[in-house]
Amino acid sequence: MPATSKTLRSASELVEAQVIKPERLAGLQKVAARYAVAITPAFVDLIDTANPHDPIARQFVPDERELEGHAQERGDPIGDEAHSPVAGVVHRYPDRVLLKLVNACAVYCRFCFRREMVGPGRGVLTGAALTTALDYIARTPQIWEVILTGGDPLLLPPRRLKDVMTRLAAIDHVKVIRIHTRVPIAAPERVTAAAVRALRTGKATFMVLHANHAQELGEKARTACARVIDAGIPMLSQSVLLRGVNDDVETLGALMRALVANRTTCTMPIWRLAPGISARQSPKARRSCARCTGAIPAYASRNMCSTFPAATANRRSGPTI
Ligand code: SF4
Repeated sequence: MPATSKTLRSASELVEAQVIKPERLAGLQKVAARYAVAITPAFVDLIDTANPHDPIARQFVPDERELEGHAQERGDPIGDEAHSPVAGVVHRYPDRVLLKLVNACAVYCRFCFRREMVGPGRGVLTGAALTTALDYIARTPQIWEVILTGGDPLLLPPRRLKDVMTRLAAIDHVKVIRIHTRVPIAAPERVTAAAVRALRTGKATFMVLHANHAQELGEKARTACARVIDAGIPMLSQSVLLRGVNDDVETLGALMRALVANRTTCTMPIWRLAPGISARQSPKARRSCARCTGAIPAYASRNMCSTFPAATANRRSGPTI
């Protein structure tokens, strides 16, 4: 079992920490030069290097196949850029917008559909750009919900997060704030009392936790989630269906049960084809999802299978974010 006290950010650091074998170094350096790499100590801790099918390693350790191009892949598969009226805002559906505060993440998932937009050094929304984004939201009364996403908004220092939350809460027609994050699992130490206080404004606020395998919900992650939930912020989940990670009924069911036991409402397994991620797509995901829906309680399988790739995207249950 490898261990590290720092986030691993390069192929050579993965070798040093014994997450990968030295013979993979040259190949994975090429991948890392193209797509960001980060695996936090919390996730390194969960990797079993003796298991060639380890579900955590499969999500975060780069793979040479990421450099293969496939015709169906898109750099911006859900069209963020085409729906961006001002920097940092994506306004795809009338009543809700994405507000992308930061373009970095605690970990870089190999299957991320925003992988062309996120990475170290891609920065945060500047003060002036944030004001422009908030002005757009304030002068657009049909915006009912604002979704903080990115990148991971919980990478922001609590003071900056508090500033954004307070300014959003002051806009009367914004009734709901939703925060999409991987941090309670990837870097639970960041979910401090100050960070949780920053999220509390009196306005309806939900956290959507990105989790793909029951193993991710270890003790530290559950404690971080409890801190948020106990502060009155309900937690929902979002999962990505991945080949060899969670695309069989048992694994998917175990994930849903672990989430519910964590007081988290399960929603939205998704898949979208960004560059270099075709190899992670699961041909049996839809079938597993359908079977899982009957195999676990209805409240644990609500909204499953809401989006699938390409032509079938969104067919089951209408628009997603
Ligand atoms: S945490 Fe989310 S935005 Fe960041 S790399 Fe993973 S999937 Fe992409």
